[in-house]
Amino acid sequence: MTQQKSLVTEMQQVQLAIELIELGARLQVLETETDLSRARLIRLFKEVRGMSPPKGMLPFSTDWFITWLPNVHASLFYNIFRSLREDQQCERMQAFVTAYRLYSEQVSIDQVEPVLGLTRAWTLVRFFESDLLQQSTCTQCSGHFVAHAHSPDHDYVCGICMPPSRAGKTRKRREREAAQLAPVDLELPAARCAG
Ligand SMILES: [Zn+2]
Repeated sequence: MTQQKSLVTEMQQVQLAIELIELGARLQVLETETDLSRARLIRLFKEVRGMSPPKGMLPFSTDWFITWLPNVHASLFYNIFRSLREDQQCERMQAFVTAYRLYSEQVSIDQVEPVLGLTRAWTLVRFFESDLLQQSTCTQCSGHFVAHAHSPDHDYVCGICMPPSRAGKTRKRREREAAQLAPVDLELPAARCAG
């Protein structure tokens, strides 16, 4: 019985690894989130993506998530993730994969370039878990936005309500795009994690 259970667990982990690889996960994500061996994960990666996983450390810092456009995307993603975790009680990695799919769908519906890769989204969740980031509520639009942890936010105004002053055509277009992604009044399909 124990043997059977561990086989099921292993299959679930392989399934999770495949899903994550398909969505663009780096090897570090897979190594952290599954108990599968590195050799096995590399083999899976090659099978799914048809290439070896890229080498090197994850270069991300918390600052990236605070810069203007990434902040809008990161905030949208994290709102979805948090809603799945807290409102729908989804298991952590199931919530993560579902939130990333929903984020990608939203971005493609709005015809906006996806700025937040899966590995970055995962890093974002880890930063929240390490208490390096917080959600600050915009005093103007009431949206919840990613901010450095412990930063004062009683008069916080988000990047959509107060875009950076640098204008320009691309910038303007991006501002319009970002406004469509505003993490306000998010309507999530119910019970996405049942099952
Ligand atoms: Zn705002």
